Amino acid sequence: MNHGFETLAVHAGQEADPHTGAVVPPIYAVSTYKQDGVGGLRAGYEYSRSANPTRTALEEAVAAVEGGARGLAFASGLAAEDTLLRAVCRPGDHVLIPDDAYGGTYRLFSRVLEPWGVSFDPVPLGDLSAVRAAVRSGSTRVIWVETPTNPLLNVADIAGLAQIAHDAGALLVVDNTFASPYLQQPLALGADVVVHSTTKYVGGHSDVIGGALVARSADLGERLAYHQNAIGAVAGPFDAWLTLRGLKTLGVRMERHCDNAERVVDLLLSHKRVTQVLYPGLPDHPGHEVAAKQMRRFGGMVSFRVAGGEEAAVEVCNRTRLFTLGESLGGVESLIEHPGRMTHASAAGSPLEVPADLVRLSVGIETIDDLLTDLSEALG
Ligand SMILES: *Cc1c(COP(=O)(O)O)cnc(C)c1O
Repeated sequence: MNHGFETLAVHAGQEADPHTGAVVPPIYAVSTYKQDGVGGLRAGYEYSRSANPTRTALEEAVAAVEGGARGLAFASGLAAEDTLLRAVCRPGDHVLIPDDAYGGTYRLFSRVLEPWGVSFDPVPLGDLSAVRAAVRSGSTRVIWVETPTNPLLNVADIAGLAQIAHDAGALLVVDNTFASPYLQQPLALGADVVVHSTTKYVGGHSDVIGGALVARSADLGERLAYHQNAIGAVAGPFDAWLTLRGLKTLGVRMERHCDNAERVVDLLLSHKRVTQVLYPGLPDHPGHEVAAKQMRRFGGMVSFRVAGGEEAAVEVCNRTRLFTLGESLGGVESLIEHPGRMTHASAAGSPLEVPADLVRLSVGIETIDDLLTDLSEALG
């Protein structure tokens, strides 16, 4: 199918139900399937950990919108990450991760995988020569990329990193949660696997936890599918259905997230209490050129620093009314948070510590004037 993004998001994997004509894949709340004689599976379904039709619809749709050979849906983003890493890493292997990796990813490496003999180094992935110097040829198995990163919105050059990874015999894995497949297509830039927390933009409505992997090659996809079934952290049919419903509108939502974020950035830039605005769309952002090359637009996440330090930043977070104080991101509603005390509190004292005067916004799709009024009032 040579269709555009929005067409794939609405239709890929989502043929009308063959029995009833239902235009949306039903929620197959079922664990097992009647066999027509021993081993006579209908459409390949045997047991819902291995495969479930609602999950299959989501998996095919996610693979299509990322342009990959195989998509797999999991109970959470971290379940997807864990399955991937156990499928591709062995004791003695080495991994490079961003020096401002998502906190849960950092914890997975430092507290779970390292004790099993997989070592890792945090590296500033925006600096390709630093990455080249950190790669250990023969033992580096994975370069793990987030771009833009959370919450500092640093940008890494996916095509450049793919080259370095492949020269060293490693896989390039891109956590595409922040950009979403609408804004950035890592597999086309040379990545081997895309990871999503579908909890965020793909689901898009703050009503479901989920994760996904998309492999560029069918071979690697098959290996990941084997581990998905063997480990068992699959998405349930209700969660898969909600996630699929969210995915259908990803394109239109992302356009509005970007429109609103750009207006929020303008307001912050002109505000005297804001000392720095972090947004890859700004021409003076150090990753702007790379972001412009590999992203359609610059996304709905905006971070900024407030004059007056930690107390002032916390006060802004406490004063918004429309921007809801909370963790997570990517939903239709705008959220505000203080990374130092909330999402990144566990990074205090580690190489991943974030500035205390930093505020992070997940800009939603509400009426922009209402969002601007709320922020202006909170900033005072
Ligand atoms: C939220 C998030 C994850 C983890 O996903 P869960 O669905 O919470 O398990 C991983 N990476 C990034 C960038 C995230 O924002």
